[in-house]
Amino acid sequence: MLMTSSEFFRNLPPKQCTKCGSHLDEMHESYVQECDSCQTEGIWAKPN
Ligand SMILES: [Zn+2]
Repeated sequence: MLMTSSEFFRNLPPKQCTKCGSHLDEMHESYVQECDSCQTEGIWAKPN
């Protein structure tokens, strides 16, 4: 049986930040996996 897209998304667990575990706002784009504060930290934390 095919699920509708709304049923599919309803079954997904709440999105969480991969760094601090905070719940992400539903408005975030699907590819975003970090909360705003962690993303901001990443901007300033240069890899080298
Ligand atoms: Zn975070």
